[in-house]
Amino acid sequence: MSTVAPPKSRPERPSVSVDVRASKAPKRQKGYGPNTQERRRRSNLSYWAIGWLAMAHLVVLAAPFYFTWTGLIVALVLHWITGSLGICLGYHRLLTHTGMKTYNWVRYTFATIGTLAGEGTPLDRVADHRKHHACSDQEGDPHSPNDGGWWSHVFWLAYHTHGGDRKAYLQRWVPDLYKEAGMRRLDYLFLPAHIVMSLLLFAVGYSFGGLYLGTSLVVWGMFVRLVTVLHATWMVNSLSHMWGYKNYETTDDSRNNWFVAIVAYGEGWHNNHHAYPRMAKHGHKWWEFDITWQAIRLLRATGLVWDVVDYRTAAEKKTLEESAEAA
Ligand SMILES: [Zn+2]
Ligand SMILES: [Zn+2]
Repeated sequence: MSTVAPPKSRPERPSVSVDVRASKAPKRQKGYGPNTQERRRRSNLSYWAIGWLAMAHLVVLAAPFYFTWTGLIVALVLHWITGSLGICLGYHRLLTHTGMKTYNWVRYTFATIGTLAGEGTPLDRVADHRKHHACSDQEGDPHSPNDGGWWSHVFWLAYHTHGGDRKAYLQRWVPDLYKEAGMRRLDYLFLPAHIVMSLLLFAVGYSFGGLYLGTSLVVWGMFVRLVTVLHATWMVNSLSHMWGYKNYETTDDSRNNWFVAIVAYGEGWHNNHHAYPRMAKHGHKWWEFDITWQAIRLLRATGLVWDVVDYRTAAEKKTLEESAEAA
């Protein structure tokens, strides 16, 4: 696969003041957060995250004993809703990179659905991801495979990324979101939202099929779904920075990985994404199918989102606009 150097003209910069396109690690300043060595201290361990992730994985061990086809179907549907719409579209392309504009209620709907993926709150995850772009595979990257494959996949989550001053970290990396009371409120809704969703699944299952179906819907619809979405997202951070091909020469090790693109709803075209972070369309070649992009197209057609960044350069934007006018 031939690679091409990124063109000089860039897509529009994000409307937020955070620079996610820095070509080298930005200067350390208040709220920058620790690098990997500094983070790997006992005092930085996040017992909350460790407990949450361990609990979810432990419950999955019960999955074979509570298998039902209804449970599997519910898990698959919720996998797509929370994984593709919540994380890929909501947390990533909308909140982190502002790749489109939308109504505030739509924005909060996606933020809430993303919260239900169990990966953490919008503030924390968006901050970590913007920092990942600002110093990809360099010092300060929250989850680079240069610090170990398993570290980039999961173990980085065992330690706080803020290094003790979460407020300064959030004000540094997500000043736009931290200003919003609604986003800060989602911090407190993380656990209650999961409890309510579990109770709802149990209630529906119980009313149609008794205790067994109720438990099956919780085990499969909540926990199997949650753990498989987690690993799909984590593979973007690990596998897509290790194996695959590059369409663009970037300053990081990001790759296009077809397997990750399938399980993570288009996010596996990660080299394309690192080359053009704000672009909401992650598949750039005809075979690079991106199902999350299809959802964004549908939302655009219904008028729920607009000003979608579906171009790499200003020239490409002009060409797309001209062909839309001619059609
Ligand atoms: Zn990356
Ligand atoms: Zn990104």
